[in-house]
Amino acid sequence: MVRPEWLKIKSPDPEKMQQIKKMMDKLQLHTVCESAHCPNVGECFGQQTATFMIMGDVCTRNCAFCAVKHGATDQLDSAEPENVAAAAATLGLQHIVITSVTRDDLPDGGASHFAAVVKAVQHKLPHSSIEVLIPDMAGDDKAIATIVTAKPSVVSHNVETIPALYSRVRTQADYQRSLNLFRQVKDKNPDMVTKSGLMLGLGEAMEEVTAVMQDLHSAGCEILTLGQYLRPSKAHIAMERYIAPEEFAEYHRIGVELGFRVVVADPLVRSSYYAGEAYREAIASKYKNIGGT
Ligand code: SF4
Repeated sequence: MVRPEWLKIKSPDPEKMQQIKKMMDKLQLHTVCESAHCPNVGECFGQQTATFMIMGDVCTRNCAFCAVKHGATDQLDSAEPENVAAAAATLGLQHIVITSVTRDDLPDGGASHFAAVVKAVQHKLPHSSIEVLIPDMAGDDKAIATIVTAKPSVVSHNVETIPALYSRVRTQADYQRSLNLFRQVKDKNPDMVTKSGLMLGLGEAMEEVTAVMQDLHSAGCEILTLGQYLRPSKAHIAMERYIAPEEFAEYHRIGVELGFRVVVADPLVRSSYYAGEAYREAIASKYKNIGGT
C-alpha cells in the first residue's frame, strides 16, 4: 500500500535528534519514541520533547503491533527516578509523559518504581504536570493504588484496539481488565484525569470503535486519542487500511458527542503527541463545567 500524503513525515533535524539521544544515553534512559519507532520522533525531538520509557527497554509481553523488544528483562535502575527528573529539567518540559514496558515479572508490576519516578520529577519540577501511561498492572488494585497515590496529573492506559482483535493484537491483555483500570483509578481518586488511546487501521468497523469509545467513557476515561496504526516491520501484524483524515474527524465528532473532555483524532496522533495541550484542555473543560459557563 502506498503511504498517503497525509502520513508524510517531517524530516528530523539530525543535530537536535543527536542532542536528545546523547543525553538519554548518558543517563541510561530510554524513550518510547525511539523504542516504538514513533513516526513523530523527528518533530517531537525537534521541539525538545520526548516520552520516557522506564524499567528498561525489554517488555515481558509480545503485542503483535509493538516494536518494543521483548524477552528477558533488566534489573530496575535505582538511579532512574533521579535521572528522569534531571532529563526532564534539562529539556525544560512542562508536561512530562512517562510510560514503561510491561513488567509482569515484578511483584507489583513496577508500580512502586513508577511512583518513585513521579515523586522525583515532582520534587525537581514542582510546577510541571506529569502523565503516566501505564500497562494494565495485571489488574492489581494495590499496584494501581500505588500509582494513583503518587499523584501524577494524568493516568493513561491505552486499550489500543477493539475487543474482537485482542486475540491477534494484544494476546496477553484483556479488554475488560483494561476498561476496569479506569474504574479502579476513579474509585481511588475521582479527580484524577484519565486518558486512553486506540490505533486504527487493523480491520475494525466504525461501530466497533464507537462501542469501545462508549465503554471507555462509561468507565471514566476523559481524554481519548485515535491515530493510524503503522506496521513497524514485516514481523508485526499487518495493517488493513489507511483511515482518511475525514474519518478521524468523524471519530472526533462522535467522541465529543459521547462526552469526552478532549478527543485528539488524526492519522499521526499517538497518545503522547502534544499531551500537554490535551491535558490543559481537559483541565480547562473541568473548570468550565464547575463554573457552569
Ligand atoms: S508522539 Fe509521543 S512517542 Fe511519538 S515522538 Fe512524540 S513524544 Fe515520542
